[in-house]
Amino acid sequence: MTNCDDPFSVLGVHREASPEEVRRAYRRLAMQWHPDRNPSDRAEAEFKRVHAAYQLFLDPQRLAEWLQSQPNETNDASPPEDLLQPLTLTLEEAAQGCRKTVDLVHSVLCASCVGGGKRRHDHLVPCPRCSGCGRVVHERGRTSRCDVCAGRGYLRETACGDCAGSGWHQEMRTLSVTVPPGLVEGERLRLAGQAPRPPGHQGAKAGDLFLEIRLERHPLFVLRERDVHCEVPVSVFRLLCGGRVEVPTLSGSAVLDLDPCPRPPLEYRLPGQGFPDQRGRAAGDLVVHLQGIFPLGVETEETALLEWLDQRLAGDLDRRAPSLAAWKEKMRQRRASS
Ligand SMILES: [Zn+2]
Ligand SMILES: [Zn+2]
Repeated sequence: MTNCDDPFSVLGVHREASPEEVRRAYRRLAMQWHPDRNPSDRAEAEFKRVHAAYQLFLDPQRLAEWLQSQPNETNDASPPEDLLQPLTLTLEEAAQGCRKTVDLVHSVLCASCVGGGKRRHDHLVPCPRCSGCGRVVHERGRTSRCDVCAGRGYLRETACGDCAGSGWHQEMRTLSVTVPPGLVEGERLRLAGQAPRPPGHQGAKAGDLFLEIRLERHPLFVLRERDVHCEVPVSVFRLLCGGRVEVPTLSGSAVLDLDPCPRPPLEYRLPGQGFPDQRGRAAGDLVVHLQGIFPLGVETEETALLEWLDQRLAGDLDRRAPSLAAWKEKMRQRRASS
């Protein structure tokens, strides 16, 4: 049998065929091509070919060697393998689109052994498993025949030291990716034919690389659907006076013009300033939640001013603070009834 004869195709069995399937295929073909039964000129050559292929199946080590020597042909027919991997973006990157780099682990054929996983020596060398004695020691002093050298102790071939016998190296390669604007958590970006091929699949078609979007937690913004929510602290004095308040947006900042003394809930919408939509629909809103912040203390000269303000309010409670007026009335009635 020559090196290029594929024992699987000679016997007409698939790669994962069981020993029983291989045996049945062999018996059928051997019967078909036996020169005593088949008068064809090709019969003898075919019979030998079938027999040689079957001999390879009976010797697992030779079969493994044959498989290793044929990395391309072996796996050409296997379907491409897709790869799914997360891609983390900041909210700004996701909103505006960006370029990112992705590190992928590729398998490359070991140059030292050309993928065979073995190193051939000019002379016999001691077996690395049993150090040349042909037996290995187990617990409680039991020994058994070394299965690396089959008890012979010395080998002409050992595992390739550069790839630990696998025939492959792992190599990190960087891929540059353009991320379109508007992808949200869990959405996937498909890069056709960009998945690294697993070991032994170098000749095969590469699968697709899927990047699943993860959004980093943002220090200012929370995304709900396509609306971007933001809590903005403002001093209670500013809230009382009204005026301009700077608020952050995904692309920079904007200015809110507050009416004096706004009513709760202190929620402002900036239409279209939220997260963009990739399907051409309108972007979400930026929703600003203002939080009134009381100062931690009041200075002496401010106290007089605040006292004066409270006196003024007390003089016009029914109109300017009806709930406070109602409360004072309740307290008055309680005093009157006791
Ligand atoms: Zn050994
Ligand atoms: Zn190697």
